[in-house]
Parts: sequence; C-alpha cells; structure tokens
Amino acid sequence: MDWDDEPDMQLCRICREEKFIEDFQSDGKGGRRTECRICCNLQRVRWAHSTPERHRRALAMREAYVKRRKRAPGGHTEAEWQARLQAYGARCAYCGRSDRALVKEHVIPLSAGGSNDISNLVPACQSCNARKLDRLDIAPAPPPFGPNGSGEASIPATMGVNGLAATLGRLAESRPSPEPREEG
Ligand SMILES: [Zn+2]
Ligand SMILES: [Zn+2]
Repeated sequence: MDWDDEPDMQLCRICREEKFIEDFQSDGKGGRRTECRICCNLQRVRWAHSTPERHRRALAMREAYVKRRKRAPGGHTEAEWQARLQAYGARCAYCGRSDRALVKEHVIPLSAGGSNDISNLVPACQSCNARKLDRLDIAPAPPPFGPNGSGEASIPATMGVNGLAATLGRLAESRPSPEPREEG
C-alpha cells in the first residue's frame, strides 16, 4: 500500500474503537497492524502472564549466566577494556553505531567455553548484544581503527577474522541446542 493512500482512521479489531492511523504500528510489510498500540501492548502483557513457565526459564537462564560469568576463566583490567573501546572507535563491533551505550560482549560466549580475557571481548550496543546472546554465527567486525591506527584487526591475536568465523562455525555445529546447559 502506498503510504500516502492510507486512511486517517482505522478500526481496532480488539477494542473496536476507531483511532488515528498513527495509533496502529506498522506490520512490517508496508501496512498497519489491525490492533491499536494499546491493545497490542495489552496482548503482550497478557501473554507474559499466561506463560509463567517461560518467565521462570528466562530467569533461570539469567542466573546460570551470572554463575558462569563468575566462574569463567581469564580476566581483564579496566584499562584493557578502555583500550579495546578505543580500538573500536567507541563503536558497536556489530552494527558500528556510536550513539548508543556500549556493553561488554563475549565473542565466544561463556556458555561455549569463552573466557573473560580482553581478546574475547568487544563493545556492543544493547540491541546487538540482545540479538547475539549465545549465538555463535554472528561475528563482530574487526575494529575500524587498529591499536596503532593501522586499521588492522586485533581480535583475537591468534587468528584472523576468517579463522575466528571458522572457529565460531565449528563451535556452533558442536552445540546441539540453544538451551542453557548446567555444567559443573
Ligand atoms: Zn484497540
Ligand atoms: Zn550494535
């Protein structure tokens, strides 16, 4: 549908109220959703309450992650992390954006045996961090600025980006399911 051809108002299929078209989110296919934003959010909340099992699982996963993080091998100093940030020009290693808060992202997830060493950490924005989670098939870009301005990739020192991708691929194949594992 052509955006300009949109009607000003639309009927919400849930609350049956006629609302301004802007009150309906895009359906991602060039049109609009048939339920208004308010009903959409309500549905989401109801869904969350109707599946406490999923919530418990999410909480358990989070707990397992915190435990893993404490037990994970290796470590780094704040200075090393700051240098790392600088190497990436304070940009997200995945999408390259610099206008968002950056968090420490484990290239090889702790759940897959990754360490807390600086070589396994890259800056990532919250949304890339959330998107990647424990996935191994999403590899970060090399830093846009190398440690001495050479533009040379500095992660990890032992393998180039292709080697890293291959390693990640192998790890991904060896992992049967994305479910959290309780090791130890
Ligand atoms: Zn509605
Ligand atoms: Zn990002």
